[in-house]
Amino acid sequence: MRAVVRDLKEQGLELPTRVTAKERYGSLIWKVPTLSAVIRILHNPAYAGAYVYGRWEYLSERRSPKTGKASARARSVAQWPVNITAHHPAYLSWEEFVKNQERLRQNWSHEGNRGVPREGSALLQGLVYCSVCGRKMSVQNRAAKDQRSPSYICGRGYQDGDEKICQSMTSRPVDAAVVEAFLTAVSPISLQVATQVLDQVEQDLIVQRRQRELQLEQARYEVRLAQRQYDAVDPSNRLVAAELERRWNEKLERVAQLERTYTQAERDAEWKLTAEERAAITDLSGDLPAIWSAETTTNQERKQLLRMAIESVQLDGIRQAGQVEIQIQWRSGTITSLIVKRAAPGEGSLKTPAEAVSRIHEMAPRRTYAAIAASLNRAGLRSAFGRRFTTQHIGYICRRDGLTKSKPNSRLKSKDGSDTASSVES
Ligand SMILES: [Zn+2]
Repeated sequence: MRAVVRDLKEQGLELPTRVTAKERYGSLIWKVPTLSAVIRILHNPAYAGAYVYGRWEYLSERRSPKTGKASARARSVAQWPVNITAHHPAYLSWEEFVKNQERLRQNWSHEGNRGVPREGSALLQGLVYCSVCGRKMSVQNRAAKDQRSPSYICGRGYQDGDEKICQSMTSRPVDAAVVEAFLTAVSPISLQVATQVLDQVEQDLIVQRRQRELQLEQARYEVRLAQRQYDAVDPSNRLVAAELERRWNEKLERVAQLERTYTQAERDAEWKLTAEERAAITDLSGDLPAIWSAETTTNQERKQLLRMAIESVQLDGIRQAGQVEIQIQWRSGTITSLIVKRAAPGEGSLKTPAEAVSRIHEMAPRRTYAAIAASLNRAGLRSAFGRRFTTQHIGYICRRDGLTKSKPNSRLKSKDGSDTASSVES
Protein backbone atom coordinates (compact mmCIF):
# COMPACT_ATOMS: atom_id res chain seq x y z
CA MET A 1 0.00 0.00 0.00
CA ARG A 2 2.84 2.33 0.82
CA ALA A 3 4.23 1.72 -2.64
CA VAL A 4 0.94 2.64 -4.33
CA VAL A 5 0.83 5.83 -2.39
CA ARG A 6 4.41 6.55 -3.37
CA ASP A 7 3.74 5.82 -7.05
CA LEU A 8 0.73 8.05 -7.17
CA LYS A 9 2.37 10.79 -5.17
CA GLU A 10 5.19 10.81 -7.68
CA GLN A 11 2.58 11.36 -10.35
CA GLY A 12 0.89 14.03 -8.27
CA LEU A 13 -2.53 12.41 -8.37
CA GLU A 14 -4.99 13.18 -5.61
CA LEU A 15 -8.64 12.60 -4.83
CA PRO A 16 -10.83 15.07 -2.93
CA THR A 17 -11.93 13.54 0.35
CA ARG A 18 -14.09 14.79 3.16
CA VAL A 19 -12.76 14.41 6.67
CA THR A 20 -15.08 12.07 8.54
CA ALA A 21 -13.31 12.17 11.89
CA LYS A 22 -15.01 14.25 14.57
CA GLU A 23 -12.32 16.90 14.46
CA ARG A 24 -12.80 19.12 11.43
CA TYR A 25 -15.71 16.98 10.22
CA GLY A 26 -16.60 17.77 6.68
CA SER A 27 -13.57 19.82 5.78
CA LEU A 28 -12.06 18.99 2.42
CA ILE A 29 -8.65 17.44 2.06
CA TRP A 30 -6.86 15.97 -0.92
CA LYS A 31 -5.66 12.43 -0.72
CA VAL A 32 -3.69 10.14 -2.95
CA PRO A 33 -6.21 7.67 -4.44
CA THR A 34 -5.88 3.94 -3.95
CA LEU A 35 -7.48 1.21 -5.98
CA SER A 36 -9.63 0.22 -3.04
CA ALA A 37 -10.80 3.82 -2.80
CA VAL A 38 -11.84 3.69 -6.43
CA ILE A 39 -13.67 0.41 -5.85
CA ARG A 40 -15.47 1.94 -2.88
CA ILE A 41 -16.46 4.90 -4.99
CA LEU A 42 -17.89 2.64 -7.68
CA HIS A 43 -20.00 0.88 -5.04
CA ASN A 44 -21.46 4.08 -3.67
CA PRO A 45 -25.27 4.22 -3.80
CA ALA A 46 -25.04 7.99 -4.11
CA TYR A 47 -24.38 7.18 -7.76
CA ALA A 48 -27.96 5.85 -7.96
CA GLY A 49 -29.40 8.96 -6.35
CA ALA A 50 -29.89 7.46 -2.90
CA TYR A 51 -29.05 8.73 0.53
CA VAL A 52 -28.26 5.71 2.67
CA TYR A 53 -26.92 4.99 6.09
CA GLY A 54 -25.84 1.75 7.75
CA ARG A 55 -24.41 -0.21 4.87
CA TRP A 56 -22.18 -2.01 7.34
CA GLU A 57 -22.99 -3.73 10.59
CA TYR A 58 -20.42 -4.02 13.32
CA LEU A 59 -20.31 -7.32 15.10
CA SER A 60 -19.31 -6.70 18.69
CA GLU A 61 -18.74 -10.41 19.35
CA ARG A 62 -16.11 -10.54 16.61
CA ARG A 63 -13.31 -8.13 17.30
CA SER A 64 -9.92 -7.75 15.74
CA PRO A 65 -7.38 -9.18 18.14
CA LYS A 66 -4.97 -6.44 17.08
CA THR A 67 -7.05 -3.28 17.27
CA GLY A 68 -10.00 -4.45 19.36
CA LYS A 69 -12.33 -2.95 16.75
CA ALA A 70 -15.58 -4.74 15.99
CA SER A 71 -15.45 -6.43 12.62
CA ALA A 72 -17.68 -5.01 9.92
CA ARG A 73 -19.97 -6.99 7.65
CA ALA A 74 -21.74 -5.56 4.64
CA ARG A 75 -25.51 -5.55 4.95
CA SER A 76 -27.59 -6.44 1.93
CA VAL A 77 -29.45 -3.53 0.36
CA ALA A 78 -32.74 -4.63 1.96
CA GLN A 79 -31.19 -4.42 5.42
CA TRP A 80 -29.94 -0.83 5.24
CA PRO A 81 -31.59 1.07 8.11
CA VAL A 82 -31.76 4.34 6.21
CA ASN A 83 -32.30 4.25 2.50
CA ILE A 84 -33.86 7.23 0.81
CA THR A 85 -34.03 6.57 -2.90
CA ALA A 86 -34.58 9.33 -5.45
CA HIS A 87 -32.90 11.65 -2.97
CA HIS A 88 -30.87 13.55 -5.54
CA PRO A 89 -30.31 13.30 -9.31
CA ALA A 90 -28.97 9.87 -10.23
CA TYR A 91 -26.63 8.57 -12.88
CA LEU A 92 -28.26 5.16 -12.96
CA SER A 93 -31.64 3.95 -11.78
CA TRP A 94 -32.01 2.51 -8.31
CA GLU A 95 -33.26 -0.78 -9.79
CA GLU A 96 -30.17 -1.00 -11.93
CA PHE A 97 -27.93 -0.27 -8.95
CA VAL A 98 -29.56 -3.01 -6.86
CA LYS A 99 -29.27 -5.44 -9.75
CA ASN A 100 -25.59 -4.59 -10.13
CA GLN A 101 -24.92 -5.03 -6.43
CA GLU A 102 -26.60 -8.42 -6.50
CA ARG A 103 -24.55 -9.41 -9.47
CA LEU A 104 -21.36 -8.19 -7.87
CA ARG A 105 -22.16 -10.19 -4.79
CA GLN A 106 -22.74 -13.31 -6.89
CA ASN A 107 -19.78 -12.75 -9.08
CA TRP A 108 -17.46 -12.39 -6.18
CA SER A 109 -18.56 -15.46 -4.33
CA HIS A 110 -18.15 -19.14 -5.05
CA GLU A 111 -21.83 -19.45 -5.83
CA GLY A 112 -21.65 -17.13 -8.82
CA ASN A 113 -21.13 -18.31 -12.36
CA ARG A 114 -18.05 -16.29 -12.90
CA GLY A 115 -16.33 -17.32 -9.73
CA VAL A 116 -13.86 -15.47 -7.64
CA PRO A 117 -11.16 -13.58 -9.46
CA ARG A 118 -7.93 -15.31 -8.62
CA GLU A 119 -4.38 -14.17 -8.77
CA GLY A 120 -3.05 -15.00 -12.18
CA SER A 121 -2.26 -12.87 -15.14
CA ALA A 122 -5.18 -13.83 -17.42
CA LEU A 123 -7.37 -10.87 -16.55
CA LEU A 124 -10.53 -12.12 -18.24
CA GLN A 125 -10.65 -15.32 -16.21
CA GLY A 126 -14.30 -16.27 -15.75
CA LEU A 127 -15.54 -13.73 -18.31
CA VAL A 128 -14.53 -15.28 -21.63
CA TYR A 129 -16.84 -17.24 -23.92
CA CYS A 130 -16.15 -18.97 -27.20
CA SER A 131 -17.88 -17.31 -30.18
CA VAL A 132 -17.48 -20.51 -32.19
CA CYS A 133 -19.45 -22.89 -29.98
CA GLY A 134 -20.81 -20.62 -27.23
CA ARG A 135 -19.12 -22.48 -24.41
CA LYS A 136 -17.35 -20.83 -21.58
CA MET A 137 -13.60 -20.71 -22.06
CA SER A 138 -11.13 -21.55 -19.36
CA VAL A 139 -7.68 -20.28 -18.56
CA GLN A 140 -4.69 -22.47 -19.11
CA ASN A 141 -1.90 -21.25 -16.90
CA ARG A 142 1.65 -22.21 -17.72
CA ALA A 143 4.11 -23.45 -15.20
CA ALA A 144 6.12 -20.53 -13.88
CA LYS A 145 9.33 -22.04 -15.22
CA ASP A 146 7.91 -21.95 -18.76
CA GLN A 147 7.80 -18.16 -18.54
CA ARG A 148 4.81 -18.18 -20.86
CA SER A 149 1.65 -16.19 -20.55
CA PRO A 150 -1.63 -18.05 -19.99
CA SER A 151 -4.04 -18.96 -22.78
CA TYR A 152 -7.80 -18.82 -23.11
CA ILE A 153 -8.93 -22.22 -24.18
CA CYS A 154 -12.26 -23.70 -25.28
CA GLY A 155 -11.62 -27.28 -24.27
CA ARG A 156 -14.91 -28.47 -22.87
CA GLY A 157 -15.88 -30.21 -26.11
CA TYR A 158 -12.55 -32.00 -26.17
CA GLN A 159 -13.13 -33.22 -22.64
CA ASP A 160 -16.55 -34.44 -23.76
CA GLY A 161 -15.09 -36.50 -26.61
CA ASP A 162 -14.52 -34.09 -29.54
CA GLU A 163 -11.42 -34.82 -31.58
CA LYS A 164 -9.62 -31.63 -30.69
CA ILE A 165 -10.05 -28.47 -28.69
CA CYS A 166 -12.31 -25.88 -30.28
CA GLN A 167 -9.88 -22.94 -30.09
CA SER A 168 -7.31 -21.30 -27.92
CA MET A 169 -5.30 -18.10 -27.93
CA THR A 170 -2.67 -16.35 -25.83
CA SER A 171 -4.32 -14.11 -23.27
CA ARG A 172 -1.94 -11.18 -23.47
CA PRO A 173 -3.00 -9.38 -26.70
CA VAL A 174 -6.66 -10.01 -25.91
CA ASP A 175 -6.27 -8.63 -22.38
CA ALA A 176 -4.36 -5.61 -23.60
CA ALA A 177 -7.13 -4.66 -26.05
CA VAL A 178 -9.92 -5.19 -23.52
CA VAL A 179 -8.09 -3.23 -20.83
CA GLU A 180 -7.58 -0.33 -23.17
CA ALA A 181 -11.28 -0.31 -24.03
CA PHE A 182 -12.11 -0.55 -20.34
CA LEU A 183 -9.93 2.36 -19.28
CA THR A 184 -11.40 4.49 -22.04
CA ALA A 185 -14.95 3.56 -21.10
CA VAL A 186 -14.62 3.92 -17.36
CA SER A 187 -12.79 7.21 -17.06
CA PRO A 188 -15.81 9.46 -17.57
CA ILE A 189 -17.73 7.34 -15.06
CA SER A 190 -15.12 7.74 -12.37
CA LEU A 191 -15.35 11.46 -12.89
CA GLN A 192 -19.11 11.49 -12.39
CA VAL A 193 -18.83 9.22 -9.39
CA ALA A 194 -16.31 11.45 -7.69
CA THR A 195 -18.76 14.32 -7.91
CA GLN A 196 -21.44 12.08 -6.49
CA VAL A 197 -19.24 11.18 -3.55
CA LEU A 198 -18.89 14.82 -2.71
CA ASP A 199 -22.67 15.12 -2.83
CA GLN A 200 -22.93 12.16 -0.49
CA VAL A 201 -20.73 13.91 2.02
CA GLU A 202 -22.93 16.99 1.75
CA GLN A 203 -25.82 14.75 2.79
CA ASP A 204 -23.81 13.38 5.70
CA LEU A 205 -23.25 16.94 6.81
CA ILE A 206 -26.97 17.57 6.91
CA VAL A 207 -27.41 14.57 9.21
CA GLN A 208 -24.58 15.82 11.42
CA ARG A 209 -26.22 19.22 11.65
CA ARG A 210 -29.51 17.68 12.75
CA GLN A 211 -27.66 15.80 15.48
CA ARG A 212 -25.96 18.96 16.69
CA GLU A 213 -29.30 20.77 16.77
CA LEU A 214 -30.82 17.99 18.86
CA GLN A 215 -27.89 18.10 21.28
CA LEU A 216 -28.30 21.83 21.65
CA GLU A 217 -32.02 21.54 22.20
CA GLN A 218 -31.43 18.94 24.90
CA ALA A 219 -28.81 21.12 26.62
CA ARG A 220 -31.11 24.15 26.59
CA TYR A 221 -33.89 22.08 28.09
CA GLU A 222 -31.53 21.02 30.90
CA VAL A 223 -30.68 24.66 31.57
CA ARG A 224 -34.36 25.52 31.97
CA LEU A 225 -34.81 22.55 34.30
CA ALA A 226 -31.83 23.56 36.45
CA GLN A 227 -33.11 27.10 36.60
CA ARG A 228 -36.56 25.97 37.74
CA GLN A 229 -34.99 23.78 40.45
CA TYR A 230 -32.92 26.72 41.64
CA ASP A 231 -35.94 29.04 41.64
CA ALA A 232 -37.95 26.51 43.62
CA VAL A 233 -35.49 26.02 46.45
CA ASP A 234 -35.96 27.77 49.78
CA PRO A 235 -33.35 30.61 49.78
CA SER A 236 -32.67 30.00 53.46
CA ASN A 237 -31.30 26.55 52.59
CA ARG A 238 -28.02 28.03 51.35
CA LEU A 239 -26.07 24.83 50.82
CA VAL A 240 -28.69 23.33 48.53
CA ALA A 241 -29.15 26.63 46.69
CA ALA A 242 -25.41 26.90 46.07
CA GLU A 243 -25.26 23.38 44.68
CA LEU A 244 -28.25 24.00 42.39
CA GLU A 245 -26.71 27.24 41.22
CA ARG A 246 -23.47 25.43 40.45
CA ARG A 247 -25.36 22.85 38.35
CA TRP A 248 -27.31 25.55 36.58
CA ASN A 249 -24.04 27.29 35.67
CA GLU A 250 -22.63 24.01 34.42
CA LYS A 251 -25.60 23.54 32.12
CA LEU A 252 -25.25 27.08 30.84
CA GLU A 253 -21.59 26.49 30.14
CA ARG A 254 -22.48 23.31 28.23
CA VAL A 255 -24.93 25.23 26.04
CA ALA A 256 -22.31 27.87 25.32
CA GLN A 257 -19.81 25.20 24.40
CA LEU A 258 -22.24 23.42 22.07
CA GLU A 259 -23.10 26.72 20.44
CA ARG A 260 -19.42 27.36 19.75
CA THR A 261 -18.98 23.84 18.33
CA TYR A 262 -22.06 24.33 16.20
CA THR A 263 -20.81 27.61 14.77
CA GLN A 264 -17.40 26.15 14.06
CA ALA A 265 -18.91 23.08 12.39
CA GLU A 266 -21.11 25.26 10.22
CA ARG A 267 -18.09 27.30 9.20
CA ASP A 268 -16.08 24.15 8.37
CA ALA A 269 -18.96 22.67 6.43
CA GLU A 270 -19.33 25.71 4.27
CA TRP A 271 -17.77 24.62 1.08
CA LYS A 272 -18.11 25.34 -2.55
CA LEU A 273 -16.09 23.85 -5.35
CA THR A 274 -13.49 26.30 -6.48
CA ALA A 275 -12.55 26.39 -10.15
CA GLU A 276 -9.29 24.74 -9.18
CA GLU A 277 -11.02 21.90 -7.39
CA ARG A 278 -13.37 21.40 -10.28
CA ALA A 279 -10.42 21.12 -12.61
CA ALA A 280 -8.78 18.59 -10.31
CA ILE A 281 -11.90 16.47 -10.37
CA THR A 282 -11.99 16.66 -14.12
CA ASP A 283 -8.41 15.41 -14.12
CA LEU A 284 -9.61 12.37 -12.22
CA SER A 285 -10.76 10.88 -15.49
CA GLY A 286 -7.09 10.51 -16.30
CA ASP A 287 -6.21 8.91 -12.98
CA LEU A 288 -7.61 5.46 -13.49
CA PRO A 289 -4.91 4.33 -15.93
CA ALA A 290 -2.24 5.32 -13.39
CA ILE A 291 -3.95 3.43 -10.61
CA TRP A 292 -4.44 0.50 -12.96
CA SER A 293 -0.78 0.26 -13.80
CA ALA A 294 0.56 1.02 -10.33
CA GLU A 295 3.19 -1.50 -9.39
CA THR A 296 1.37 -2.66 -6.28
CA THR A 297 -2.06 -3.06 -7.84
CA THR A 298 -2.67 -6.79 -7.92
CA ASN A 299 -4.12 -8.73 -10.83
CA GLN A 300 -6.95 -9.74 -8.53
CA GLU A 301 -7.85 -6.08 -8.07
CA ARG A 302 -7.58 -5.47 -11.81
CA LYS A 303 -9.99 -8.34 -12.41
CA GLN A 304 -12.43 -6.92 -9.90
CA LEU A 305 -12.37 -3.60 -11.66
CA LEU A 306 -12.94 -5.20 -15.06
CA ARG A 307 -15.88 -7.14 -13.66
CA MET A 308 -17.53 -3.95 -12.52
CA ALA A 309 -17.88 -2.81 -16.09
CA ILE A 310 -17.77 -5.96 -18.20
CA GLU A 311 -20.45 -8.63 -18.37
CA SER A 312 -18.65 -11.03 -20.67
CA VAL A 313 -16.15 -11.21 -23.52
CA GLN A 314 -16.65 -13.34 -26.63
CA LEU A 315 -13.60 -14.55 -28.49
CA ASP A 316 -13.32 -15.86 -32.03
CA GLY A 317 -9.86 -16.86 -33.13
CA ILE A 318 -11.05 -19.05 -36.00
CA ARG A 319 -12.95 -16.88 -38.48
CA GLN A 320 -9.97 -14.78 -39.55
CA ALA A 321 -6.55 -16.37 -39.72
CA GLY A 322 -3.97 -14.75 -37.48
CA GLN A 323 -6.55 -12.60 -35.70
CA VAL A 324 -8.86 -12.74 -32.74
CA GLU A 325 -12.24 -11.08 -32.90
CA ILE A 326 -13.28 -9.74 -29.51
CA GLN A 327 -16.76 -8.70 -28.45
CA ILE A 328 -17.01 -6.96 -25.11
CA GLN A 329 -20.46 -7.06 -23.59
CA TRP A 330 -20.58 -4.18 -21.14
CA ARG A 331 -22.83 -4.21 -18.11
CA SER A 332 -24.49 -1.14 -19.52
CA GLY A 333 -25.79 -3.40 -22.31
CA THR A 334 -23.63 -1.97 -25.08
CA ILE A 335 -21.19 -4.02 -27.09
CA THR A 336 -17.72 -3.13 -28.31
CA SER A 337 -16.10 -5.11 -31.12
CA LEU A 338 -12.36 -5.26 -31.53
CA ILE A 339 -9.89 -7.24 -33.59
CA VAL A 340 -6.39 -8.01 -32.39
CA LYS A 341 -3.52 -9.76 -34.05
CA ARG A 342 -2.80 -13.16 -32.67
CA ALA A 343 0.58 -13.41 -31.04
CA ALA A 344 2.74 -15.59 -33.25
CA PRO A 345 5.36 -17.70 -31.51
CA GLY A 346 8.05 -15.41 -30.20
CA GLU A 347 6.61 -12.42 -31.99
CA GLY A 348 4.94 -9.68 -30.05
CA SER A 349 6.30 -10.84 -26.74
CA LEU A 350 7.26 -8.02 -24.48
CA LYS A 351 10.81 -6.88 -24.72
CA THR A 352 13.10 -5.62 -22.03
CA PRO A 353 14.04 -2.11 -23.19
CA ALA A 354 17.20 -2.17 -25.33
CA GLU A 355 18.88 0.38 -23.10
CA ALA A 356 18.43 -1.83 -20.05
CA VAL A 357 19.75 -4.87 -21.91
CA SER A 358 22.85 -3.03 -23.08
CA ARG A 359 23.53 -1.75 -19.55
CA ILE A 360 23.15 -5.27 -18.21
CA HIS A 361 25.67 -6.51 -20.79
CA GLU A 362 28.02 -3.74 -19.77
CA MET A 363 27.79 -4.36 -16.02
CA ALA A 364 27.47 -8.15 -15.98
CA PRO A 365 31.19 -8.99 -15.89
CA ARG A 366 31.90 -6.74 -12.90
CA ARG A 367 28.81 -6.56 -10.73
CA THR A 368 26.30 -8.72 -8.88
CA TYR A 369 22.75 -9.19 -10.15
CA ALA A 370 21.45 -7.22 -7.18
CA ALA A 371 23.79 -4.30 -7.86
CA ILE A 372 22.80 -4.26 -11.54
CA ALA A 373 19.10 -4.31 -10.64
CA ALA A 374 19.56 -1.44 -8.20
CA SER A 375 21.49 0.58 -10.75
CA LEU A 376 18.83 0.12 -13.46
CA ASN A 377 16.04 0.98 -11.05
CA ARG A 378 17.88 4.13 -10.00
CA ALA A 379 18.14 5.10 -13.65
CA GLY A 380 14.34 4.76 -13.90
CA LEU A 381 14.51 1.79 -16.25
CA ARG A 382 11.78 -0.84 -16.02
CA SER A 383 11.35 -4.46 -17.10
CA ALA A 384 9.35 -5.64 -20.10
CA PHE A 385 6.26 -5.66 -17.90
CA GLY A 386 6.95 -2.16 -16.58
CA ARG A 387 8.17 -3.39 -13.23
CA ARG A 388 11.28 -2.60 -11.23
CA PHE A 389 14.16 -4.95 -11.93
CA THR A 390 14.87 -7.73 -9.47
CA THR A 391 17.86 -10.02 -9.05
CA GLN A 392 15.82 -12.72 -10.83
CA HIS A 393 15.21 -10.49 -13.88
CA ILE A 394 18.89 -9.74 -14.24
CA GLY A 395 19.84 -13.38 -13.66
CA TYR A 396 17.39 -14.45 -16.34
CA ILE A 397 18.72 -12.03 -18.93
CA CYS A 398 22.35 -12.88 -18.10
CA ARG A 399 21.71 -16.58 -18.48
CA ARG A 400 19.69 -16.05 -21.65
CA ASP A 401 22.43 -13.96 -23.22
CA GLY A 402 25.22 -16.22 -21.95
CA LEU A 403 26.77 -13.49 -19.82
CA THR A 404 27.46 -15.67 -16.82
CA LYS A 405 30.30 -18.16 -17.09
CA SER A 406 29.34 -20.14 -14.03
CA LYS A 407 25.79 -20.59 -15.20
CA PRO A 408 25.81 -21.43 -18.91
CA ASN A 409 22.78 -20.76 -21.02
CA SER A 410 21.19 -24.12 -20.40
CA ARG A 411 17.62 -23.34 -21.28
CA LEU A 412 16.70 -22.99 -24.91
CA LYS A 413 13.95 -20.71 -25.94
CA SER A 414 10.66 -22.44 -26.58
CA LYS A 415 10.37 -23.81 -30.09
CA ASP A 416 6.72 -24.61 -29.61
CA GLY A 417 4.86 -23.73 -32.78
CA SER A 418 1.41 -23.44 -31.26
CA ASP A 419 -0.46 -20.19 -31.30
CA THR A 420 0.27 -19.66 -27.64
CA ALA A 421 3.25 -17.47 -28.05
CA SER A 422 6.19 -17.42 -25.78
CA SER A 423 5.97 -14.60 -23.27
CA VAL A 424 9.58 -14.80 -22.26
CA GLU A 425 10.86 -11.39 -21.38
CA SER A 426 13.40 -10.99 -24.09
ZN1 LIG B 1 -15.65 -23.35 -28.59
